[in-house]
Amino acid sequence: MSQPTSTFPRKPVLFCDFDGTITLNDNIVAVMKHFNPPGIEEIIKDIVSVKKSIKQGVGEMFALLPSSLKDEVREYILSTAGIRPGFPELLEWCKLHDVPFYVTSGGIDFFIYPLLAPFGIPDDHIYCNGSDFSGDNIKITWPHDCDEHCDNGGCGMCKTAVIRQFPNDEYYRILIGDSITDFAGAKLVDLVFSRSHLTERCRELGLPHIPFDTFHDIIQHLEQGGRTS
Ligand SMILES: [Mg+2]
Ligand SMILES: [Zn+2]
Repeated sequence: MSQPTSTFPRKPVLFCDFDGTITLNDNIVAVMKHFNPPGIEEIIKDIVSVKKSIKQGVGEMFALLPSSLKDEVREYILSTAGIRPGFPELLEWCKLHDVPFYVTSGGIDFFIYPLLAPFGIPDDHIYCNGSDFSGDNIKITWPHDCDEHCDNGGCGMCKTAVIRQFPNDEYYRILIGDSITDFAGAKLVDLVFSRSHLTERCRELGLPHIPFDTFHDIIQHLEQGGRTS
């Protein structure tokens, strides 16, 4: 059997986005479109134009939904979110080659944990935001907020803080993602597997990236040591 991890200059570690990466669509956007609370358009616009931080915007979006919708929102996501092909195979590949795999998501625990339940990822390898349904409206909590080194600020779930726990003289850091919550982390890692907006961003900034469609594509590149050519 080949030993792909030995083709990396240092021990590889994967940080994988959830919404629009592990799942085929962005679940938060889908939920907000479906339940369409008044005022939502404005908030989405402000997040995209960076007028609002991700943390502020996501907090405000969920605060538009009553806590009583919890089960309905979760059921909607569970029934509509598809998992991108090759995801179980990538997890298997990581296990086989002793490559740590972390889910780093700007999404929310109450739909991420149930969606990931079939895949056997340890809880402490899943970083996401929390939720509180004790009030009238849904309140998002931020157990993994930015550390003092994050110059992005207002990440909510700070991917750069998670990535920094793996020093780059020891680890070959690889980020997998698609969109705005991945922009700050992409600047920090050795290699990005990108889709959608993140591909455009990496191109603009000249960051080392490999566009992908399925996780099978990623496995193939990891087998070759993640080389981009
Ligand atoms: Mg995403
Ligand atoms: Zn941050």
